[in-house]
Amino acid sequence: ERIIQPAAQGKEEQVDRAIRPKMLADYIGQPHVREQMEIFIGAAKARAEALDHCLIFGPPGLGKTTLANIIANEMGVSLKSTSGPVLEKAGDLAAIMTNLDAGDVLFIDEIHRLSPMIEEVLYPAMEDYQLDIMIGEGPAARSIKLDLPPFTLIGATTRAGLLTSPLRDRFGIVQRLEFYSLADLTHIVTRSASLMGVGIEALGAEEVARRARGTPRIANRLLRRVRDYAEVKADGVVTADVADKALNMLNVDALGFDHMDRRLLMALVDKFGGGPVGVDSLAAAISEERDTIEDVLEPYLIQQGYLMRTPRGRVATQKVYDHFGLTAPASMKQ
Ligand code: ADP
Repeated sequence: ERIIQPAAQGKEEQVDRAIRPKMLADYIGQPHVREQMEIFIGAAKARAEALDHCLIFGPPGLGKTTLANIIANEMGVSLKSTSGPVLEKAGDLAAIMTNLDAGDVLFIDEIHRLSPMIEEVLYPAMEDYQLDIMIGEGPAARSIKLDLPPFTLIGATTRAGLLTSPLRDRFGIVQRLEFYSLADLTHIVTRSASLMGVGIEALGAEEVARRARGTPRIANRLLRRVRDYAEVKADGVVTADVADKALNMLNVDALGFDHMDRRLLMALVDKFGGGPVGVDSLAAAISEERDTIEDVLEPYLIQQGYLMRTPRGRVATQKVYDHFGLTAPASMKQ
């Protein structure tokens, strides 16, 4: 498994529970999101209403689930959690919804993967707190209507563009999470180290952060591995030098790229002359799923200016040639 994979690995969710921020004040970075949510939550609480439905989108590991839990905590309500692929039948959704108390949060992760049938059930539930489902089959089938308490749906997705527009239109609040700045990620590493009882120097925290692809989940994971290294190979304190050596050993380079990023960029340069090339051809060339490229690999490469998404396909930028010490083709127009 990739150490810099942004999705949770193994028991990571449990390990992370202790360091996951619980309230908005502990949610580091994302200043626009925090500022807006403070106002929307404050206003809903003052009116004693359920918060409007929220859509949170952004690459994996940036804090969508964390934010959903924080919203419930700040509102003082419970959160019930499910995910798009898990909800197969209308009855699955009905079972969860009829368990909601007034004001509760229903969190649906990977909401872009809901079946069209479930989406149809969701629309009246979101708009009028009405559950409208068919029970039974054949001639005995009938539709029943149930009133639901006012609730807040929080949907999370990696890309807003994956949602159907009728679903997207039903969210009153839409928040987009961005990759974290180096300063914010350094802050997150420092906070996590303190909660984990790890000794870390300021420059050590910064080195871990620099190589964590703007992603808190990756930063926390790298911190755990760097701590192991510090305990075995040094005196337990994470310095910049210890972090650098540990991350080199893990094949995470100075930019936070690993073998998969290098493979993608090298294929683009070697096999396709730097592009443009369609994402499907690129996926075939490195034997990866198209979704892995679009959701996991390329968002950070694009944000960092190594890759461009153009109407004719993916294009490598001058930075790729500089990083690998290669000469860009003369035909390259940037
Ligand atoms: P997502 O749902 O977007 O995949 P998560 O909410 O599960 O991401 O976040 C991954 C981990 O990163 C969490 O366990 C949490 O510890 C950490 N994290 C996320 N966002 C923040 C933040 N703003 N401040 C501090 N830690 C964060």
